[in-house]
Amino acid sequence: MLNIKNLHVQLEDEDKQILKGVDLTVEAGKVHAIMGPNGSGKSTLSYVLSGKGGYEVTDGSATLDGESLLELEAEERAAAGLFLAFQYPVEIPGVGNMTFLRTAVNAQRKARGEDEMSAAEFLKEVRATAKSLKIDADMLKRPVNVGFSGGEKKRNEILQMAMLSPKMCILDETDSGLDVDAMKLVAEGVNALRDENRGFLVITHYQRLLDHIKPDVVHIMANGRIIKSGGPELALEVENNGYADILAEVE
Ligand code: ADP
Ligand code: MG
Ligand code: MG
Repeated sequence: MLNIKNLHVQLEDEDKQILKGVDLTVEAGKVHAIMGPNGSGKSTLSYVLSGKGGYEVTDGSATLDGESLLELEAEERAAAGLFLAFQYPVEIPGVGNMTFLRTAVNAQRKARGEDEMSAAEFLKEVRATAKSLKIDADMLKRPVNVGFSGGEKKRNEILQMAMLSPKMCILDETDSGLDVDAMKLVAEGVNALRDENRGFLVITHYQRLLDHIKPDVVHIMANGRIIKSGGPELALEVENNGYADILAEVE
């Protein structure tokens, strides 16, 4: 489903190479996890896939269901079924969470040639989805993420993900800064969305998230490349021994 080949990326306004040949395939129905030391390029990979500016792709390709992503605008990638849950969700003062969600959902439906959801239909769906994620109805009325706790912001990302029903979900350290209960809620949200037609790329620092979201494949990223891939046991190895052994082995 998501197919990344030999992806090389540098900063647009600085001659600094960040991704140095990433190869990665995520099949429909599978959960792939990426772990790796700080600064290895994990967030950059998720930004480049979702269309954030400031990066230049100098080589390689990235396709979703065979369609090249890299030439598309960010909103076209979203319409194609890509979703990114941010490591640091942004606060948007003055924009109600519900309005934001409805605008996003309808923009996506429009881009796909589908009818807009009526206000009543949307309200019913968003309330039910929020409830299932244990999100307080009050949070729907407040401005996007403003004054939300760390856990509430992350759950709000999962709510957006659930409402947009993407084909390919990328979560960038959605567990960072969360207590165990909030992390479990995020994991439950992800698990509820697991589906044979949907792929996940879960970027995480901690093995403990992977206790709750059981990945099919674990990749280790370092210095702009995937240096090792394996099963869930690879995450346990990292938890127990850190990255040093794997880095040394690859060198
Ligand atoms: P990770 O998410 O694995 O911690 P990042 O993708 O955030 O890694 O960063 C990879 C490297 O690229 C780091 O050295 C970081 O400082 C650098 N980098 C990423 N984006 C920028 C930017 N916009 N300007 C300068 N350096 C950047
Ligand atoms: Mg980091
Ligand atoms: Mg990061």
